[in-house]
Amino acid sequence: MESMDQEINEMIGDLKSYLEYLKGMGIASLPASEIISNKIIREKNLALAEVRKELGDCKRCKLHRTRKTIVFGEGNEKATLMFIGEGPGYDEDVQGKPFVGRAGQLLTKIIESINLSREEVYIANIVKCRPPQNRNPEPDEIQSCNPFLTKQISVIQPKIICALGTFSAQTLLKTDVKITALRGKLYDLEGIKVIPTYHPAFLLRNPEKKREVWEDMKKIVEWLNIDA
Ligand code: URA
Repeated sequence: MESMDQEINEMIGDLKSYLEYLKGMGIASLPASEIISNKIIREKNLALAEVRKELGDCKRCKLHRTRKTIVFGEGNEKATLMFIGEGPGYDEDVQGKPFVGRAGQLLTKIIESINLSREEVYIANIVKCRPPQNRNPEPDEIQSCNPFLTKQISVIQPKIICALGTFSAQTLLKTDVKITALRGKLYDLEGIKVIPTYHPAFLLRNPEKKREVWEDMKKIVEWLNIDA
């Protein structure tokens, strides 16, 4: 009995030091690791091309009626860093690529500011079709698209996901906490680090917030180096 108590005390001690360690790393909380209803399963044998094929000429939600192009996502299939935005805008809808408009150009600069290129990271969105008049994606649209984003994450298996803006952060973390409270903190999604930051379109309207995004990018660099 005594040795069992000792074992339990040791386990509690270990757990305490582990939590202290996480706290020191800036990990603020450990939310239930789940994306909507879809678990991130390690999809080692699945390629992004197969996920794209399965998506097909998607008509699973009403966004297909007004979109020009499905914006699947682009970048390095083996990226350690993934950026996830909200949904395509006008330019993305026309070109079929994520983040190619004004906000996209700013995202490119942000990526380059940490000495990476767009080709080295992977860029995707919560929804793959442009919401009309750039309105916010609706819950049923997010829900329809989510299995494909989940599969993309499962294939890529990034070390870090940078969630860009409210919709991305709230969807990935299954929360309705405001982006101002989420940003800059570290969350866990099935072993993948998630850091929410401000959306580049928000930065275009509020350039004084760029400093905070820069702080978040420095954390990303640090974590990429630790895990390298
Ligand atoms: N905003 C987004 O959230 N995603 C894009 O691809 C473009 C603009």
